[in-house]
Amino acid sequence: MGATMALITCPKCGKEISEHVDACPSCEYLIKKSRYSNGSSDETAVTLEAIGKKWKVVQFLGKTCLVIWVILFSVLLYIQPQNSPMLFDISIWVFFAGFILYVVGRIGSW
Ligand SMILES: [Zn+2]
Repeated sequence: MGATMALITCPKCGKEISEHVDACPSCEYLIKKSRYSNGSSDETAVTLEAIGKKWKVVQFLGKTCLVIWVILFSVLLYIQPQNSPMLFDISIWVFFAGFILYVVGRIGSW
C-alpha cells in the first residue's frame, strides 16, 4: 500500500468517502472543503454545506401550498363550504399536497 487515502465519514449517510470528492458518491451530500483557508488547522477540513437545495425548494413549495390552503380555507369559511363543494375539494387537495411536499422536504434535508 502506497499513499494512504484519507477517508472521512459522510455526515449524512455515514459512509466512508474520500476527502478529495466534492460530494458523497452514495447520497450526493455536498462536502465543502475549507482546505484553502489560512492554515488554521481545522482538522475536520470539511464544512457542512447546506444540504441539497432541491429539498429546500420542495419545502418551499409545501409551505406555499399551505399558505394557499389557508387563504382558500378562509374564503370557504366566509362563503360556506356547501355553497362551493368544488372549492372545498380543491382546498383539501392543496392541503395534502402542501403537507406532503413539506414533510418530504423536511425528511430529505436531514
Ligand atoms: Zn453520503
